Amino acid sequence: RQFLDIKNQHPDKLVLFRMGDFYETFFDDAKTASKYLGITLTSRNKKADDPIPLAGFPYHALDNYLDKLVKNGLKVVICEQTEDPKKAKGLVKREIVDIITPGSIVDGNLLENAKNNFLAAVYKDKNKYGLSFIDISTSDFLFTQIKEEHLANELLRFESMEIVVADIETEALIRKLLPNQTPVITIFDNGYLSYDDAVSTLKEQFKTSTIEGFVSKKKRAATIAAMLALSYVKSLKTDNLLHISSIRYYSIDNFMQIDDTTRRNLELLKSLRFGNSMGTLISILDKTKTPMGSRELVSRVLNPLMDKDGIEKRLNFVNIFKDNIHLTEELRVVLNEIGDLSRLLSKVGTSRITPREIISLKNYLATSENIKIILEQFTESTIKELKNKIQNYRDIILFIEKSIIENPPISITEGNIINNGFNSDLDELRSISNDGKKWISRLEESEKEKTGIPSLKVNYNKVFGYYIEVTKTHKDKIPDYYIRKQTLVNSERYISPQLKEYESKVLGAEERIKNLEYELYVGIREEVKANLSVMQDFEKIVALIDVYTNFAYIAYNNGYNRPFFNDNGVIEIKKSRHPVIEKLLESQEFIPNDVYLNSSDNLIGLITGPNMAGKSTYLRQVGLLAIMAQTGSFIPVESANLPIFDRVFTRVGASDNLAFGQSTFLVEMLETAKILNSATPNSLILLDEIGRGTSTFDGLSLAWAIVEYIHNYPKLKAKTLFATHYHELTELESVLEGVKNYNISVKEWNDEIIFLRKIERGSADQSYGIQVARLAGIPKRVIRRAKQILQNLEENELSPQGLMAKVKKNMDKKSMQPDIFDYMVQLADEKEEILEEIRNIDVNSLT
Ligand code: ADP
Repeated sequence: RQFLDIKNQHPDKLVLFRMGDFYETFFDDAKTASKYLGITLTSRNKKADDPIPLAGFPYHALDNYLDKLVKNGLKVVICEQTEDPKKAKGLVKREIVDIITPGSIVDGNLLENAKNNFLAAVYKDKNKYGLSFIDISTSDFLFTQIKEEHLANELLRFESMEIVVADIETEALIRKLLPNQTPVITIFDNGYLSYDDAVSTLKEQFKTSTIEGFVSKKKRAATIAAMLALSYVKSLKTDNLLHISSIRYYSIDNFMQIDDTTRRNLELLKSLRFGNSMGTLISILDKTKTPMGSRELVSRVLNPLMDKDGIEKRLNFVNIFKDNIHLTEELRVVLNEIGDLSRLLSKVGTSRITPREIISLKNYLATSENIKIILEQFTESTIKELKNKIQNYRDIILFIEKSIIENPPISITEGNIINNGFNSDLDELRSISNDGKKWISRLEESEKEKTGIPSLKVNYNKVFGYYIEVTKTHKDKIPDYYIRKQTLVNSERYISPQLKEYESKVLGAEERIKNLEYELYVGIREEVKANLSVMQDFEKIVALIDVYTNFAYIAYNNGYNRPFFNDNGVIEIKKSRHPVIEKLLESQEFIPNDVYLNSSDNLIGLITGPNMAGKSTYLRQVGLLAIMAQTGSFIPVESANLPIFDRVFTRVGASDNLAFGQSTFLVEMLETAKILNSATPNSLILLDEIGRGTSTFDGLSLAWAIVEYIHNYPKLKAKTLFATHYHELTELESVLEGVKNYNISVKEWNDEIIFLRKIERGSADQSYGIQVARLAGIPKRVIRRAKQILQNLEENELSPQGLMAKVKKNMDKKSMQPDIFDYMVQLADEKEEILEEIRNIDVNSLT
């Protein structure tokens, strides 16, 4: 009945029910637990007609099992025994002490170090969506308001494992928008969904009356979403989440938009092939020293700024730290001593911090002094301001030093936490216990003398307490005041009245010590909690200093330079490198290349060149540089003058989504459609091999039309780099003013191909596909045969020249649609083509 009472309150969650040294699960929960945890499913009262399914695991394995349950998207209720079983009359009292869902984890053991764990809330208000993200393990709390078209991307960007909504319609919409994702979606409606309710909930949490400063009726949807997120996590926790003490409104218009495809294609955080950080931009950029810095860096890379002043401010910091690289190195040594301060502070906020963690907290805070000393050596006023934001933590550090021993345990009920001299009652109890112990240890010597048994020992175990052990050979020397307690194979165990008297003194004192230490610790924890918001200030400063010194360190070591920004839409980069590939090349050197695009006669760069020449690398490189620059990082160039981009789009390579039932070509077209429908003249478009997944003529026609559209459509006119293996497209330069041809040069030498990796004006004269095939080890016979076919094709009308002459003739007639399809039909009709086919049949291989 006790279990069912709790289960009925949380029918959607799995209940871990503490019974002695085990957490047990019952009924369907037991089946679920056994499935996900691989633990044995048994049953209670087996002999009854309807035995109850049961599965459990030992209490000390909780973290491990909890991790598995939560990663599988389950919500878990933890129900503990809340009174001492020895003292309980009848059934032991049990209560819910915690509820853990994928989006509401506080404990760092269940979380990835450098990653935020955001719970999302979505609230629909007419045609707007309020969106809020909360990470209770770090106290990050954000909210915004967007249109439906941006919803999927924002949810993907924050990688939320759990999404809270107020109704089933919103749930259905999210499932539709994120077909390939499986976040846990929770419907939570506590009946308070008005704007006024939301404002008062937030006000109460933040203990301010100034919340009107950043919410307003215009942000109704956003404010309600924020309340939804907060109310939901509070409904799960037993305390008031004091560490969630502020919220930040953001607008997607203030940041460069990077959609999910681009984020994946440019491999910002995850590699396409391995799904981890190997070969990603972040693997190069993240040399931060603290988890706070690392999380801040990821958030900056995903949210490049669009306001020039903001970017310049960040770059100034990087500049100063780079110019003072020795001091920067010193700072990084100090930062290295700081662990996850945010997560410790969230444990302070939820009263979960252990004694051992309080000592870490103290050590982290103590670094503030060293950081200040180093920052003082800078002359720049901006660094002085930064330094002045670091508060003085001496009092709280001293308080922890005075109260808690240097190497305390994790447990708070077993004593050994509090320093001597902190509390006089505790000191007294300790001296009673110590005196007793000393007496007992002296007893061994005196009893040996008295009885003449040299091997006599005084020992302790949990069952008998203190006892005297004598080997059987000396049994006859036992004095009569020894009381026998236990017989073992070789020895006997005894107690004496005097020993028991001291024992009760010692054990009584120890019991009281444990209780007192527990009480004192709870008090100390509250005292530390009172300093929460000043300690949170330090966490934020650490994140900033870590990110700036990180960028300075990378710029210094990787030879990056500061980017500059213009308002006239020109990209002019000298000697740029790909930040990731340059590191991956082992023996070879990365060949730097220039970039030039503008809004008029160099709007679109059309890049041809054989496979493997370096086209994709060049394209991605430009995208990455634009993102890095607006993030506030120096970049791998000799010099760069850039416009501020509102969006970067990529359509790169063949990222197959076959697993989700979409063909490569369809995915390619879906992605291209999104680009053509949402890019602006301030965007950067990177298109790699459009039209590859279909027939040559289809692909070529589409590619042609797409370039024309970007070039001509006034709302688009985005700066574009277009890599293609269709040579025919280079003809576009002669018909469209803004298109310029480039190629990545190669040299032919003795039928071999040498990649020079240098971008230059003009088109590549051929594809070199066959040479590349040879490099790859395609059998010689195939290569010879391919050459033959190529020659036949080139002599034929199908040659690029033949085809394009026809296309151009049509263009001259002012028809903007090259009728390649008609032309195909005509070709097929031609006798010569058919004869050629017949001639090429290898009669010997026919069956
Ligand atoms: P493409 O897109 O033309 O087929 P990629 O961009 O995939 O060619 O480049 C192929 C390989 O060439 C890359 O993996 C890289 O190792 C090398 N590469 C590309 N650009 C350069 C460069 N500028 N300097 C040195 N090596 C390069």
